[in-house]
Amino acid sequence: MARRSQAIEIFGQSIAPSSQQTFNIPIGQLYTHTDIHIPVQVVNGKTSGPVLMICAAIHGDELNGIEVVRRVLKAPWLKNLRGTLIAVPMVNVLGIIHRSRYLPDRRDLNRCFPGSEKGSLGGRIANLFVQEILSKCQYAIDLHTGAAHRSNMPQIRVHLENQQAADLAQAFGVPLVIDAPIRDGSLRGAGDDLGIPIITYEAGEALRFDEPAIRAGVKGVRNVMMHLKMLPPRKASVPTAPSFIAKSSSWVRAPADGLFRSKLQLGDRVARGEVMGIIDGPLGGSETPVLAPFAGIVIGNTNLPLVNEGEALLHLGRFDDIDDVESVVEEFRQEFDGGL
Ligand SMILES: [Zn+2]
Repeated sequence: MARRSQAIEIFGQSIAPSSQQTFNIPIGQLYTHTDIHIPVQVVNGKTSGPVLMICAAIHGDELNGIEVVRRVLKAPWLKNLRGTLIAVPMVNVLGIIHRSRYLPDRRDLNRCFPGSEKGSLGGRIANLFVQEILSKCQYAIDLHTGAAHRSNMPQIRVHLENQQAADLAQAFGVPLVIDAPIRDGSLRGAGDDLGIPIITYEAGEALRFDEPAIRAGVKGVRNVMMHLKMLPPRKASVPTAPSFIAKSSSWVRAPADGLFRSKLQLGDRVARGEVMGIIDGPLGGSETPVLAPFAGIVIGNTNLPLVNEGEALLHLGRFDDIDDVESVVEEFRQEFDGGL
């Protein structure tokens, strides 16, 4: 018989089994004398099991993850939870207020971990987050999007040398996995130091809701929870499509200034030397083709046609088994409504 869950202790309070509670973790005041806090929802299951954190908006303009967290918290399947889910939909609340990726001092919170009590604004928030939330978890999923005007094909970024994290990445179940070594100051780095495997889900564009990216994110979180046995397996055994690991990836940059007309969508396959789009001036007559430097799959793109020479246009991933990747990406597109 499954063991009864223990109460979990977080931010000085204990949460009983089969209950959930909202916490407001204070991070100070705005200079308008308004209190400010990070909202956290802790869901404790009936029986004991792993502690998983899902968090979003470490970059304050990345909104898809906030909606993923909200939908997970509303999902009927969460009633069967074993273990504990810690949901943090808005980590960088100061950035969100300003609709900005960054903190008000223009620092990137995801370069401030693990932080310190007496450090910069970002360092103090990072330190509080690590002490009060991250250190209570065994696993974490960090939800991100592309930057402003740039979309990412739904993908997992993970340091594949960390076997537990690599297993979570496969379990998430999106077609593309990018091997991303740990960056100094990132949440993933803080997790690594504490022995907590963290994967990053990247999907869609900043300051937008992208329905397929959100739905794929909710499904991925659920898949990871099933993998960790925090949820019972699905009744009908639907085989999960494999994820493919990119050998490498690079951005194709604008060879000229002008307006970029892309011929490609996220997930499309290109051959080496193929015309990926055209850059032309406003009066026409100065067309410059943008050629694929290698065969690959489009894993990110710009949505802003105004480009200067050297700006990033399309992010291409290199894969060994490109035929298989192409067909799994096509199935994925169909599952999530044909458009990404
Ligand atoms: Zn981000």
